Amino acid sequence: MKACVLEAINKLVCKEVPTPEPKTDEVLLKIRACGICSSDYDRVYKTGTYHFPTIPGHEFCGEIVAVGNGVKKELIGQRAVVFPLLPCRKCLSCKEEHFAQCANYNYFGSRCDGAFAEYIAVPLWNCQFFSNSLDFDVAALCEPASVAFHAVRLGNISKGQTVCIVGTGTIAILCGIWAQKKGARVIFIGRNTRKKEFLEQIGFHECLLDVDGLDDALKQITNGQGVDVALECVGSDRALETSILSLKQRGTLILIGNPDGNKSINKNIYWKLLRSEITVKGSWNSDYSSQQNDWNSVLRELESNPRQFSYLITHKFKLEQCNEAFEIMTNKTIFSIKGMFIND
Ligand SMILES: [Zn+2]
Ligand SMILES: [Zn+2]
Repeated sequence: MKACVLEAINKLVCKEVPTPEPKTDEVLLKIRACGICSSDYDRVYKTGTYHFPTIPGHEFCGEIVAVGNGVKKELIGQRAVVFPLLPCRKCLSCKEEHFAQCANYNYFGSRCDGAFAEYIAVPLWNCQFFSNSLDFDVAALCEPASVAFHAVRLGNISKGQTVCIVGTGTIAILCGIWAQKKGARVIFIGRNTRKKEFLEQIGFHECLLDVDGLDDALKQITNGQGVDVALECVGSDRALETSILSLKQRGTLILIGNPDGNKSINKNIYWKLLRSEITVKGSWNSDYSSQQNDWNSVLRELESNPRQFSYLITHKFKLEQCNEAFEIMTNKTIFSIKGMFIND
């Protein structure tokens, strides 16, 4: 099969590799769409994967074309998205089904081969099925959409509340969509005029640019109160400060953005955390337990309203275009939200 193999930092090669075979309790998936995550930009250009060579790609879906022992043949032809985490099933977190907190997990596309390829063998347990009426590209948004869904759920956002989202990347926008579905008023804070225009086009009319006077502007549009919940989706010092400053007394801060370095905050902002009794919650990955399966909830939403999500897919590539794809997606002068590899 064809696959994009990361052989070293900055060396992504599209080449022929052996097609995997499904083992016991696994299915062979023909990959139809795989999103390029901003964490993949770092893997390819800066940090590499856990070992080389690795096939990156963890935001994927496809159709089952073969099954291993213990899996019903009737599943052949079924469409599925894949939870990319392979838990150890031995640690305490796994016993409590908090798989994202597993002490010794494996992960498609970073710790083991992922889905910038034509085929992948995955455990049936990791598959969530979807109907033939949902397009593969929208279904492949299920991973980032579940990460955002999880974060919004942790914020306990309710109807009529005001939510501030700091950042305008894929996860940030998806957080906005989920918060809006919960009936919240959503205010975005970004740095890019083109993104602001895009947000307006998809129905988010309150987007403030992070310029001088932002704090006053925020106060003004929230009657001097601040917002109920702030979601920090960037990971920079500035975004962290903005998120805290946007909050009202006893508000909730949800941290999602991966940190871009050591974090430090000004003393007056630290005071605000104390005096305003801000609740701070970290959010990581998504829930995939028998009690709470974010993936299942998200898939049903994608099926019922695919259009709203399809706008996020701005670029589609073939596997052979992998280097061009990364150049385009990381070029700050080119407007992009989500890029994807598509296999026919
Ligand atoms: Zn990702
Ligand atoms: Zn575990």
